[in-house]
Amino acid sequence: MDYREETDSYICRNGRELTAQYDKKVRNRNGYTSLVTIYECESCQGCPYKEQCIHGNNCKTPMEERTKRLNVSKVMNQKRKEDLVRITSEYGTQLRMNRSIQTEGSFAETKEDMNFRRYLYRGKKNVLA
Ligand code: SF4
Repeated sequence: MDYREETDSYICRNGRELTAQYDKKVRNRNGYTSLVTIYECESCQGCPYKEQCIHGNNCKTPMEERTKRLNVSKVMNQKRKEDLVRITSEYGTQLRMNRSIQTEGSFAETKEDMNFRRYLYRGKKNVLA
């Protein structure tokens, strides 16, 4: 979906607008807490793309009554943008090229020549050793 910065909203493939409703804190399995913005479509009635667009088959609300909701982490999107700029910069491209030359060669040697296919150690202490 296309993001419109001026109105802080998304435009879906059916040309309808998903506006920001509220923010909520979400904690993942690792205990990391992030702030997520919930966007909701103005109306999804009569949309031909509804079956592909709205997921969650376990929902008890009938499909005709459901509207599309998006959970977006603005911080994550910002970090992704910054990351993309970094890795596609001249310096970033050089680092990625060097990584593929140096590291992948070592992996290939270890795996194919030395037939080292998997780590047998378990636990932080053993892996560190
Ligand atoms: S289901 Fe709603 S959000 Fe999805 S394409 Fe249709 S109108 Fe847009």
